[in-house]
Amino acid sequence: MATPTISAVKYVYSFGGGKAEGNGKMKDTLGGKGAGLAEMTNAGLPVPPGFTIQTEACREFMRGNVSPNLDKEMNAALAQLEALQGQKLGAGDNPLLVSVRSGAKFSMPGMMDTILNLGLNDQSVKALAALTQNPRFAYDSYRRLIQMFGSVVLEIEKKHFEEVFDNKKKQKKAKLDTDLNAAALQEVIEEYKKVVKKFAKIDFPQDAHEQLVMARDAVFQSWQNDRAKHYRRMNNIDDMLGTAVNVQAMVFGNLGETSGTGVGFTRNPANGDKEFYGEFLLNAQGEDVVSGVRTPRHITELKEIMPEVYNELRDITNRMEQHYHDIQDFEFTIQDNKLYMLQTRNGKRTGLAAVKIAIDMVEEGLITTEEAVFRVEPNQLYDFLVPRLDEKSGKAELLTTGLPASPGACVGQIVFTAKEAVEYTHKGKFKSIVLVRGETTPEDIAGMEVAAGILTSRGGMTSHAAVVTRGMGKCCVAGAGELVVDEKKKELRAKGKVFKEGDWISLNGTTGAVFAGQLNTLPASPDDPALVKFMSWADPHRRLKVRANADVPRDAKAAISFGAEGIGLCRTEHMFFAEDRLPFMRAMIMAGNEKDRRLALKKLLPMQRADFVGLFKAMKGYPVTIRTLDPPLHEFLPSREDLLVQIKELELTKPRSPKLKELRVILARVEELHETNPMLGHRGCRLGITYPEITEMQARAIIEAALQLKKQKITVVPEIMIPLTSTIKEMKNQADIVRRVAEEVFAEKKDRVEYLVGTMIELPRAALVADKIAEEAEFFSFGTNDLTQTTFGFSRDDINKFLPEYMKRGIFKQDPFASLDQEGVGQLVQMATERGRKTNPNLKVGICGEHGGEPESVKFCHRIGLSYVSCSPFRVLTARLAAAQAALEEKGNTGGATK
Ligand code: PEP
Ligand code: MG
Repeated sequence: MATPTISAVKYVYSFGGGKAEGNGKMKDTLGGKGAGLAEMTNAGLPVPPGFTIQTEACREFMRGNVSPNLDKEMNAALAQLEALQGQKLGAGDNPLLVSVRSGAKFSMPGMMDTILNLGLNDQSVKALAALTQNPRFAYDSYRRLIQMFGSVVLEIEKKHFEEVFDNKKKQKKAKLDTDLNAAALQEVIEEYKKVVKKFAKIDFPQDAHEQLVMARDAVFQSWQNDRAKHYRRMNNIDDMLGTAVNVQAMVFGNLGETSGTGVGFTRNPANGDKEFYGEFLLNAQGEDVVSGVRTPRHITELKEIMPEVYNELRDITNRMEQHYHDIQDFEFTIQDNKLYMLQTRNGKRTGLAAVKIAIDMVEEGLITTEEAVFRVEPNQLYDFLVPRLDEKSGKAELLTTGLPASPGACVGQIVFTAKEAVEYTHKGKFKSIVLVRGETTPEDIAGMEVAAGILTSRGGMTSHAAVVTRGMGKCCVAGAGELVVDEKKKELRAKGKVFKEGDWISLNGTTGAVFAGQLNTLPASPDDPALVKFMSWADPHRRLKVRANADVPRDAKAAISFGAEGIGLCRTEHMFFAEDRLPFMRAMIMAGNEKDRRLALKKLLPMQRADFVGLFKAMKGYPVTIRTLDPPLHEFLPSREDLLVQIKELELTKPRSPKLKELRVILARVEELHETNPMLGHRGCRLGITYPEITEMQARAIIEAALQLKKQKITVVPEIMIPLTSTIKEMKNQADIVRRVAEEVFAEKKDRVEYLVGTMIELPRAALVADKIAEEAEFFSFGTNDLTQTTFGFSRDDINKFLPEYMKRGIFKQDPFASLDQEGVGQLVQMATERGRKTNPNLKVGICGEHGGEPESVKFCHRIGLSYVSCSPFRVLTARLAAAQAALEEKGNTGGATK
């Protein structure tokens, strides 16, 4: 079957009758679904025939210059489909009905809309009723079409249709949807038509071709809907890719008890176990299984009901897995005992499952260990680090056990709508939110993002809530059918109890258990043998070292357990915020002269030394980079507003108290330290230059700690890091202090240790003169948080004021504080590295901004030849994997990466 090529661009690709014009590699052109259908057809699977309108048509649609050839090619492809089926679209005794679905290059669950039964109208519905001898089925299909067409194409709110349907059920005293007979459904159809007329101001189109054109254009349009845009932003998918449109002959799963529809995975997508996994419903149509309206049956039950179909399904899905070398997520329909495969694609899976499946597939000889490295997305490793629910930690009552839709645990306060979840998060009303819904829909996405976890009373493992939360790595219990979620009354009813907004519940996403009250969570263990094995395949490829940002021994120990190879940033100021330190820190700041300042610093010295001893010990000989004091000093004093309130109170109640006097002195100092732009102010090395005694104390504490450990036979090579330099003279000033103090300590202790003095590169000027700075600095570490702030010239703390608008308008694809702006800030990093290494070819260069744990930024750091990345302990595994993937990619190996 071939569609004649009318223009240079081929818009429409047919598939059916055992062959397809496209193939599985054409995801850019045909979208994931279209390429899959072509590939499945070519592989001889029972796929209903149809055609795919390629993504270029969508791009033309977005640009407003659709070629007239699109319609010509579509009509030609339709004519061929009709010939193949021996049917006419929406006409004759045996009318052809089609489904119209979107299908972008990357799967976007729930984001784009589907229309089924297209081709039905007042005439063809009668033909279908006669042909199937099942008028109820025919009219039900028609009313579904009007409803889907109305909401997707004509953008009429679903509730208007639901209202009609619910009223009809009440009027006919029908309990279930299926209790409405053909006559009642005919009444529903007439009322649906009125809804269409009222809200869309047009009649429901009776011309099947007109339906098709309108549906196709609506799919193009839906690429631009807010949900789709939001999903793309979250997943970093290019807005200009566009979607393909798949038009496919309908097969019916709702022709009675010998028909059905289902979805499944060739392995368990939650834990990776090698088991046939899926759900189905008899006498149901496509969306019924995933929409969560009816709770589906486990696929193994199909074995008893239709053994032959089950065996054929197993056989086909096994072949698909062998063919694609990856876990498959498939959709099927059974029409009158005949199996049709509607879709197959590489299945989304949790991090736990991804690692297990990668290992199993290597052991089964399906993939190599190099390919396995790409089978896990770096951020997915976080799943190994998600907390588990400590069910013995309290008296919380088990309310029910739902489906373990997405692993992990969460403890939070109940909120019933996505909108409120977002609102309460912004207002800080609740600390942790569990979004409780009957079922979630794509409209809930923003609320799901801010929630700690999701609980639904309806829907299966492939419901919207389950799929989306697994993608987010967020805990979810779905289909907890014993719970009643009354969204109107804002009540959750279970076991005779009523829970209101704000009440605490605890979820175990790994088992599906739901508890009333607040349980504790246990940290996950990163030493799962599967993870260890997987990382043993990834790590040898890695050239970048991975360190952690940690300030206290606890975090340092966690970092080591996740595989960190050193500390890339110890922010010493965090040590001064501790309760026992703050008074001395404040005394130091309040001191009016150097002598008093030194006195206060002397008190801080032993505490700092002890901190460093703890940190060095935890790091067991790995390098530790310690940064000298960085933030503006006012951060250590009470806020001006708090002081004014306290002073006012005392003035009224105890005007003579010494406390009042003291507060007034502090206020005066706070006002003295006030700066208009503190982030661009008296901070970083500027502090150490104006108060050299601070740098002296810190250098002494570090060197003394290292010497102390040397005595205990623990080798430490501290890396002392000066923040926020922009000139070589600043660097020299601070390095001189550190080296002088080190020599003093060596002389006192009659012993020596190795150490390095280096700097952070956080300012564009520092990057520009990096060759000069490298004359003094023995290492560089890019503080890309500040470097992003200072390069763009916007505040890292206030970017949210305009970031959403920037994302919406496509000015930014991502938050530049989350993923490195490789084009601009990255260029500075690359240039400074090159310039620094011109002066000192052995210069050690790392990155310690937040970007150090973000996979794309880590890969960039690899490509420009940094020595290491440093990130928060919980991102160490992610950075290790990203670094390994980057090294393999450099050799041209992408493991046939799939997304
Ligand atoms: C940075 O600026 O990137 C950095 C790591 O320092 P901080 O976040 O402490 O300013
Ligand atoms: Mg900084």
